[in-house]
Amino acid sequence: MAPVSARGPRLLLRRLREIMAEPGSAQTRLNKLVSVIASIMVAEVCSIYLRRAGNLLELFATEGLNPSAVHNTRLKQGEGLVGWVAETADAVNLSDAPSDPHFSYRPETGEDPYKSFLGVPIVRGGQVFGVLTVQNKTARQYAEEEVEALQTVAMVLAEVVAQGNLFDIAELDEPELRPDRPLAFHAEGLCEGVAVGRVVLHEPRVRVERMIADNPVIELKRLDDAIGGLRLSVDRMLDSSELDLTGEGREVIETYRLFTYDQGWLARMRDAINTGLTAEAAVERVQDDMRLRVNRLGDPLLRERAHDLDDLARRLLRHLTGDGEHEEELPPDAVLVARAMGPADLVDYRRGRILGLVLEEAASTSHVAIVARSMGVPLVGSAEGITDAARAGDPIAVDGEIGEVHLRPPSEIILAFEARRAMRAHRVARFARIRDLPAVTKDGVHIRLMMNAGLLFDMPQLHESGADGVGLFRTELQFMIGETMPRLADQTAFYKQVLDSAGEKPVVFRTLDLGGDKVLPYARWEREENPSLGWRAIRIALDRPALLRYQVRALLAAAAGGTLRLLLPLVSEVAEFNAARALIDREVERARLLSHPQPRQVLVGAMLEVPALAFMLPQIMRSADFVSIGSNDLFQFVFAVDRTNPRVARRYDPLNPAALTLIRQIVHSAAEASGELSLCGEMAGHPLDAMALIGLGLRTLSMQPSHIGPIKMMIRSMNAAEVSEFVVKLCGRTDHSLRTRLSAFAAERGIVLK
Ligand code: PEP
Ligand code: MG
Repeated sequence: MAPVSARGPRLLLRRLREIMAEPGSAQTRLNKLVSVIASIMVAEVCSIYLRRAGNLLELFATEGLNPSAVHNTRLKQGEGLVGWVAETADAVNLSDAPSDPHFSYRPETGEDPYKSFLGVPIVRGGQVFGVLTVQNKTARQYAEEEVEALQTVAMVLAEVVAQGNLFDIAELDEPELRPDRPLAFHAEGLCEGVAVGRVVLHEPRVRVERMIADNPVIELKRLDDAIGGLRLSVDRMLDSSELDLTGEGREVIETYRLFTYDQGWLARMRDAINTGLTAEAAVERVQDDMRLRVNRLGDPLLRERAHDLDDLARRLLRHLTGDGEHEEELPPDAVLVARAMGPADLVDYRRGRILGLVLEEAASTSHVAIVARSMGVPLVGSAEGITDAARAGDPIAVDGEIGEVHLRPPSEIILAFEARRAMRAHRVARFARIRDLPAVTKDGVHIRLMMNAGLLFDMPQLHESGADGVGLFRTELQFMIGETMPRLADQTAFYKQVLDSAGEKPVVFRTLDLGGDKVLPYARWEREENPSLGWRAIRIALDRPALLRYQVRALLAAAAGGTLRLLLPLVSEVAEFNAARALIDREVERARLLSHPQPRQVLVGAMLEVPALAFMLPQIMRSADFVSIGSNDLFQFVFAVDRTNPRVARRYDPLNPAALTLIRQIVHSAAEASGELSLCGEMAGHPLDAMALIGLGLRTLSMQPSHIGPIKMMIRSMNAAEVSEFVVKLCGRTDHSLRTRLSAFAAERGIVLK
């Protein structure tokens, strides 16, 4: 018997299309399909097995095996050769199947006389839907082209099955395979709030409508044209003076460019076209294969690369289909779903235009999470797999506090989420009632509650939340959202607006904290191996003094006549602080010489984010007017965990005895030096953590505005002396976390944590 001819797959695909277009039941069409495949591939047997509930592979149609076995023969995943194909998601090609250890004899099928076996998985979106097999009596190894041909048919079959074109996929009775099945994700709540809306994919999946081609020559030309267009657009990106890509961004795009010339990738797509697929189906086919391989290997580095290739394939598909070039109108109830997103991307969507955000990759202190909080967008992170599962327009319900996401939820879940939203609103109203009451403990200790901000639209919350001022204004956010570096006049106007909206309340401006995961879209940046330990914050300010001086110049002008509070980020040593302060003093002097209006007072603080500075508290307190603990960065360095890496970011708890002991020592040293101390990391906004911090002696906390209410409520129900005694004792323990003990204590004393 001759292997399938070069026109075999094309002929097969044409017949497949004809069969799909024919009227009749799904079973009739499947029966026809197996008989056509068997005849074109000169095989005595062709069978289709599809997955059913309980991970069983059921024989759905066969040519050559006993017809009574159809819908009766069922194999478990991994059972028999068919189960083996499904488990490995790879082709199995054997000349002597019965002697293979995976062979499982099923008398009802009557397959005794067949020696050779070729099985390929029916795969779509990295999921195995079933297995397609051919068998022959004579012992022989199937040729490479035959394997390819069967794989191509299987791919089209998968698409047909998934789209319900062949029969209602619900008939499969395999809930897991239904593309419209409801799905729940128990992930990580990163910004509280409830959203019920519809999915908008941040990078939408391009839908391939046409799978089977009439003329491969035309398809090859279409692929070449699209590759040309793709290369051109990548080159344009690299050359664009507007984007002025640098550092990691540039490197990513340069790697993209290399990929577009990858001969292996191009050859695989061309081969796929030669089997009878359209150019877009060929792109998908190659991408699906790669995803499967990567999933099997489970190598995180390869997975990263696969993300890149996925992006590239998506772009290529857009070139082929002309889709998604223009920006889509957002529906009024948009919930964004994305694998990952930068802070600037999120800000691009503007406040009020999206109800919620679900990401596969994001940790609590990553900057996209901080921006989401500042925009008041409920956010769930670590929702693994959601971008593959979600389709644009799907109903979705998100709870950003407990980290729950329901995709295509049943109506009861929607109702429950609506109720949750109402309950939260009620809670907010409860906090509003205590807005003007002081944050004072039962034993009379006053706590200053400040809020964190970064964009102008945060400012109205200063009054709405009842905060005592802005304890941390992250100025870099304003720089990150623009296309170009803001000019001096724009910076001045911006800071003035912030100060005006704060009125009498103080605002602490942190000078540019760039680097790490905060990069300017328009600046040239070198790629670094460890960006969070790299050229960041004050280090940049000292190496590029013009940047800091310009910003200070704008701030001095904006605060003319009042008090200007500056905070220097990531100070590692006193000398560094002094050097930056000298630059600030030069600007003050310059303004004086030029007789520019000036603030009455300029206070300069240091952020304690690097452990080394904790050993220099008395000295830094002599140089700085105040110190603010940036616990997000501080604990990243204390525990050596990358705060942006969800895999480790939560590995250690800030309520760990070492962390609390460190805070306790910092508070002591600051008090001895009579210095002003505050804490402005995320932990300040969590009631239990804040309770412990107050117990350790902190009296000023700065947090998200939405946390002011709950924290004030907690403060008004606690006794500082009692908490202090308890927490100090706990510092001597060796627990992984003191959270449970502290919660039990709070419950016992009636301290309100919600
Ligand atoms: C911190 O590190 O705790 C902090 C407040 O700064 P950021 O989160 O902006 O790095
Ligand atoms: Mg920081």
